[in-house]
Order: sequence, then structure tokens, then C-alpha cells
Amino acid sequence: MSTAERAPVLLTPGPLTTSYRTRRAMLVDWGSWDSDFNALTASVCSRLLGIIHGQASHACVPLQGSGTFAVEAAVGTLVPRDGKVLVLINGAYGKRLAKICQVLGRDFSTFETAEDVPTTAADVERLLAADPRVSHVALIHCETSTGILNPLEEIAKVVEAHGKRLIIDAMSSFGALEIDARRVPFDALIAASGKCLEGVPGMGFVFARSSALAASAGNCHSLAMDLQDQHAYLAKTGQWRFTPPTHVLAALHEALTQYEEEGGLAARHQRYAENCQTLLAEMAALGLRSFLPAPIQAPIIVTFHAPRDARYRFEDFYRRVRDKGYILYPGKLTQVETFRVGCIGQVDAQGMREAVAAIAESLREMEVFEI
Ligand SMILES: *Cc1c(COP(=O)(O)O)cnc(C)c1O
Repeated sequence: MSTAERAPVLLTPGPLTTSYRTRRAMLVDWGSWDSDFNALTASVCSRLLGIIHGQASHACVPLQGSGTFAVEAAVGTLVPRDGKVLVLINGAYGKRLAKICQVLGRDFSTFETAEDVPTTAADVERLLAADPRVSHVALIHCETSTGILNPLEEIAKVVEAHGKRLIIDAMSSFGALEIDARRVPFDALIAASGKCLEGVPGMGFVFARSSALAASAGNCHSLAMDLQDQHAYLAKTGQWRFTPPTHVLAALHEALTQYEEEGGLAARHQRYAENCQTLLAEMAALGLRSFLPAPIQAPIIVTFHAPRDARYRFEDFYRRVRDKGYILYPGKLTQVETFRVGCIGQVDAQGMREAVAAIAESLREMEVFEI
């Protein structure tokens, strides 16, 4: 087995473990002006759009950079300068979205619940009734800082009933949890190459409602972040404005082929759900408790309470588990000590069992028994 095939398993929510086929797709250099590369871009965008059934209503606009670049681009392009965003927060990514509004100078208000409490449609109903100046609602679908799932469909219906626009950060759920643009009304849904599609990081994409995108011409504060301009140029020339992440796109193209071969969204969801169930059961057998109750736990990433034993230190634990071939993720909660284990990426239930065995072995080595 080559070094490339023996790479550590990343139990992190992006970057994550990719297949050898996906990594191998990056061994070719592409000319960004070449018609073959343009065809690759068109194919990726149309397959992405197919996953949400958005062909009739939305455009897929790819953007260079990490996921946050695409979130910032969506807010900067689609929220008018005199608009107001209601940001729904129950974790770090919600806070980041509010920060984006602040930095871009878009008026906003926030509604924050505890990190283990989903925002509800009733909350949004009440908030929209109380503040008619809100033009857009921004929601994190799966808040990756804990793994909590927010009720997207119900919230989307309330937002639409009030005649407001919805912006969804679906970064860590897109491709694994079903979102159907024919049923769920939204102006923007944002995701990226290196999450549930199991590509490598480096590009985001925004599914923007075509009418909203057309109406946003000239609104963006930034040249590079202007999704309307990016879309118009792509539509006209088949090319990206500015140098595209060629290898990232080629890897995503290959990752999408494997996604389709596996059975698309239903199969991806099922594998991740099995990963999550296996992880929860095997960790519970060790005495390790998850932070979220099952009904609001998305099968994407699980937050576990750290052992209470004084001999437990995350850095030591992390290093021992890494030496056994698995990369864990630190916790992101301020009140309680936790660590996180991702369920997504090129890994199956057997891989999760082996990861938990490495975790158990590491805790034994550290003589951590008080769980
Ligand atoms: C990964 C992620 C992002 C983007 O983070 P980057 O570090 O910019 O890639 C945004 N929102 C959520 C919910 C995420 O999981």
C-alpha cells in the first residue's frame, strides 16, 4: 500500500477523509481557459444543482476559497444595503454569520438559543412579527460546533409566509441531509467542496434563486465576492472570473461520480447515519456520553463530554489517538469540556468501530477510568 493510501483517517468535519480516486484526480494539470475545464465546471454545477432539484429555480454559483468565503459572498451579494438580516444562532457558525453582517455593514439582529436548543419555527414566527424591518433570515442547518440540527423546513415555511428571504448555511449537511428546492423556499443555500460530498477543501458554492441573483446586480461591496458577476461571467464565457481552483474542481468532479455510484443522497445519508449510530453505541459502551439528545443530533459530527478523570488532557488524548491513525476534533463549547468526532468522509461503520477501539486504548494508556 502506498503512503497516499495509508493516510490517517480524519474524523473531522472538513477537511475530511477522501478516497484514493478523489485524490488521484488531482494528478492532472488543467488549463483554466481550456474547453475541457469549462466542461468540467459546467458538469459539476449542474450535478450539484440536481442534488437539491433546483434546476428550474436556482443557479449554482461556484466560488474560490473556503466555505466562509461563500457565506460572505452570499450575504454581500443578496442582502440589499438597506436590508436587515435576522441571524439565528446556536453555535460558532451562527455567530460567524452575524460577524459577517457586521463587517459588511448590513443591519442585523440576532436570536440566540443555548447550544443544545434548536431554533424553532415558532421563534421565527414571533421574531418576524415583532420586527417588520427584517428582510432576510439566516439559518445554520447543521451547526457543526455541536452537531445540532435546526428544523429547516418548518422555518423556511414561516419565512416564506412572512414574505421574507432565507439564507441557509448548509455547509455540513448538504449532500447528506435532504433539501429539496421545490419544497423548501430559499434565496441562498451555501455549501462547499470538502464536506459531505467528500471532495477536498478549496471552493464553496451558492445555490442562489435566479430572480434574486438577477436583482442583485451592482449590490455587492466587493469585486471578488460578487456572486452575480461571477454567475454572469460564467454564463457568458463558461469560465470562472479569476484563477479557478482547478485541482479542487477536478477532485470534486470525481467525488461526485463516486457519490452517484454509491447511490446519491439516500445512500450517503444512510452510511453517515450508520456511522453515527455505531459511534454513539460504541462510545456509550465505554461510558462516554454525547452532549446532544438523539432527536436533535445530526449524523454529521458528535460532541462528547470529556472524561472527568484528572489524568485526562485533550492534547495528550489527541496525540495518542492520532498515533493510532485517527484525527479527532477539539470541542467548541465554552461551558463544558468536550471533544468532537466526525461521522462524515470516506469511512464506514467498521472504520468507526476501529476508531473507538483506538480511543479506548488511548484512555487505558492514560489510565483514565473515571468517565
Ligand atoms: C465548515 C463550515 C463552514 C465553513 O467553514 P470554513 O472554515 O470557511 O470552510 C461554515 N458553516 C458551517 C456550518 C460549517 O460546518
